[in-house]
Amino acid sequence: MVPILSLSAPELERWLAEHDQPAYRAKQVWAWLGRGATSFEEMKDLPKPLREQLATDFVATSLRPLAVSEADDGLTTKTLYELDGGHSVEAVVMRYTDRSTLCISSQAGCPIGCPFCATGKFPFGRNLKSNEIVEQAVDAQRLLAREGRRLSHVVFMGMGEPMANYRSVVDSVRRLADPELLGISPRRIVLSTSGLIPRIEQLGGEKIPVTLAISLHAARDELRDELVPINRKYPLTELIAATQAYGEKTGRRVSYEWVLLAGVNDTERDAHELGALLKGKLAHVNLIPFNPVEGTPYHAPSRAQVRAFKEMVEAQGLNVTVRDTRGREADAACGQLHERVMRSRAEKGPPRNQGEASDSAGTPAGVG
Ligand code: SAH
Ligand code: SF4
Repeated sequence: MVPILSLSAPELERWLAEHDQPAYRAKQVWAWLGRGATSFEEMKDLPKPLREQLATDFVATSLRPLAVSEADDGLTTKTLYELDGGHSVEAVVMRYTDRSTLCISSQAGCPIGCPFCATGKFPFGRNLKSNEIVEQAVDAQRLLAREGRRLSHVVFMGMGEPMANYRSVVDSVRRLADPELLGISPRRIVLSTSGLIPRIEQLGGEKIPVTLAISLHAARDELRDELVPINRKYPLTELIAATQAYGEKTGRRVSYEWVLLAGVNDTERDAHELGALLKGKLAHVNLIPFNPVEGTPYHAPSRAQVRAFKEMVEAQGLNVTVRDTRGREADAACGQLHERVMRSRAEKGPPRNQGEASDSAGTPAGVG
């Protein structure tokens, strides 16, 4: 079955014309999906025969929820989805007083292989199609709509390297921003990347001013080669130049992410190197305390170490914040619920048949 979101607006209009329906019906369909509809049946302002025809030809989503976990007293919800073909990805909804943010996946697995990251530990699966990316957001909106909330921000910080799935990611950003669907302003969308320079340059030409976040983690090539292996191909000086050029072109302040690994990149030397790299640049540093991943040699820093490093970076004249560690109880760091499910699958075999939850936006399996 064809996922409705795999059709562009003109394609849906064409299908409607073939079924003797006016083009404005497309807007109605997108609006329902944008409000979190999970079936065509619910789309009450469409004629019944049209709803039935849509249900014959399309599915509202291709994602099948496999597991859901909650944390922070229900403020954080993480869902693991099975994709067509059997790979799985995760997305995390984080509720705040003034906004609701979705952390979204762009690939099943990741080809970059950073040694501290749970996602990088599994063999790379596949790129997500743009509709599979957008469907994560539509499903989050479904969840939030029930609570009288609206999805307001999207960060590409789930599984995968968005710049290694460039075309689908850019298409999905345009779709997320479409006022007829979810209407999330590109300024409220963050693309986080390990630093694929040619794609950063290409993104600057797309005229979608998304916020760029660079996963820096080290400010000397020798250490970054180890922590973010793509650095061997795209080293620091060139990466910063490309990133700052993106910032100037789009008028967006760039964020630099720094996962704090105790004793590895949280020393005075690291703070000095970071200062030297970014001094005088329009940039923001985001410190992320490491969320421990089994089987890696890394450890989370203590609160005192985090505070000390923040002060050292501030002393360099840089703008710096510590990211809150939302969702730790829900294993919400990059790839960890996925890891747990993968492990239990390896032990027990596949948990259930494919197709069992074909209306994937319904109550997710395993939630109770
Ligand atoms: N591949 C992209 C986006 C997904 S990862 C990237 O690397 O930027 C999103 C962020 O989570 C990155 O900054 C990444 O370094 C960080 N991250 C990965 N594993 C983590 C962990 N165990 N604890 C804390 N942050 C982690
Ligand atoms: Fe991939 Fe990002 Fe994880 Fe590195 S940190 S392995 S680039 S998902």
